Amino acid sequence: MEGLEGLRRTFRSGRTRGVDWRKAQLLALVKYLAENEAQILEALEQDLGKHPVEAYRDEIGLVKKSAEHSLLNIKKWMAPKKAQLPLLLFPSRAEVLPEPLGTVLIIGSWNFPFSLTLDPLIGAISAGNTVVIKPSELAPACSSLLCRTIPCYLDSEAIKIIEGGSDVAEQLLQHPWDKIFFTGSPRVGRTIMSAAAKHLTPVTLELGGKCPVILDSFSDSDFKVAVKRIASGKWGSCAGQACIGIDYVLVQQKFASLLVESLKSCIKRFYGENMEKLQNICRIVNNQHFDRICKFLEEPGVAASIVYGGSINREKLMIEPTILLDPPLDSQIMTEEIFGPLLPIITLDNIEESIDFINARPKPLTIYGFTKNGKLKEQILQETSSGSVVFNDSLIQFICDGLPFGGVGPSGFGRYHGKYSFDTFSHEKPVMHRTFFLELEPRHPPWNEFKMDFIRLAYKFDYVGLLLLLLGLRRMFTPNRSR
Ligand code: NAD
Repeated sequence: MEGLEGLRRTFRSGRTRGVDWRKAQLLALVKYLAENEAQILEALEQDLGKHPVEAYRDEIGLVKKSAEHSLLNIKKWMAPKKAQLPLLLFPSRAEVLPEPLGTVLIIGSWNFPFSLTLDPLIGAISAGNTVVIKPSELAPACSSLLCRTIPCYLDSEAIKIIEGGSDVAEQLLQHPWDKIFFTGSPRVGRTIMSAAAKHLTPVTLELGGKCPVILDSFSDSDFKVAVKRIASGKWGSCAGQACIGIDYVLVQQKFASLLVESLKSCIKRFYGENMEKLQNICRIVNNQHFDRICKFLEEPGVAASIVYGGSINREKLMIEPTILLDPPLDSQIMTEEIFGPLLPIITLDNIEESIDFINARPKPLTIYGFTKNGKLKEQILQETSSGSVVFNDSLIQFICDGLPFGGVGPSGFGRYHGKYSFDTFSHEKPVMHRTFFLELEPRHPPWNEFKMDFIRLAYKFDYVGLLLLLLGLRRMFTPNRSR
């Protein structure tokens, strides 16, 4: 690949290792976001019909906050961490030294074209790597803007944006990267992983899946807040085209009609009365995804389960926020990731049944538990597995720099955000410093019974390590007693 050798040369030169270079790049990124805000908002409007407020919340503001967080902490993250050693090894000291991995590849998705490329970039820069970013071709205005503008701000001998589709990504994957950070579908995730395996390249896979809500019973006021948060978690971020967006809701049968009515009024207030007046909601990214989502609604039994919405506008690529009550569990809407503005509500006799319901399906990226019941919370935590769990809210985990963000099982592996991004793009190198003072003879042959006992004890009781050390020193002068 043209330019890859240049990036490797830059890395080998050591330029990206210094804290000054890393900070300068992060500051330049903050400047980039400030000076290009209007163009970024325009590109997001063009590709996805993202409202400027939503766009600032989920992309510009989020990335800026993340860069500032790294700027504040980077020196601390880079510092070697002292490590504890067994007394037996006295005198010596050790530390864990984070080192950059080298030249890394970031492949992004289209739904958050800036945050899903620039947020991992912050981690890669903070850790001192050189980087290639391949944004998604499905958000072409954003991809082109990144490609044109980023080199004007960041060190172009260390950070490159390469535009293109799956063909370009496949070519990029032929090269021996030091890390591949991928955000996208589980299907392409498999391709990434097998390409990486050829070079034994480590990967982080940020994938998707079906994120459920478990909605317990609440007082009136709490229920209203819960419904607002569920509506926002479904339709408020890229019209449901979000990996951590709510996929479906599990609720007790007796609360279902109240939930549907409350969601309806929420939708009307947030996004407009009907299809013609739809506002504050993204469009579907392209025809292919539009058809994919519409197909869910065409399945027998699914259309009949629509209790709100269901209108579409092919020309504008808009799908109305849609609620479905108990669609068939074997229909595609319930077996595939929806990634669009359709919300199935599944009713249960008891809310505890939601545990088995979730466990019968692939591990989700997030489980949203709306409950005040400590026992149910504990059950969700102990009896299910997911990338994360959020109680009584939705989506907000993405803005928390202190929490690792990532999946488990089919929803992906590896993690990032804040310090976790720095770690993801670093190798934690253990370094030991020994002296030539004191030589422990029992570690060396010729073996004998005493040495066996010595090693057994030394491994078992570190606190007697020093004692054993002294004993070992004494015995080092005694003749060998072979068995
Ligand atoms: P996608 O897998 O189709 O594409 C992602 C990236 O992979 C794009 O840059 C694309 O060009 C590239 N790509 C496509 N085919 C490829 C191939 N054969 N070889 C190599 N690269 C290839 O995913 P998408 O449609 O952009 O995004 C939707 C999926 O991503 C959903 O499943 C969603 O849940 C997931 N997602 C996950 C996160 C997360 O943080 N966990 C965030 C956003 C989206």
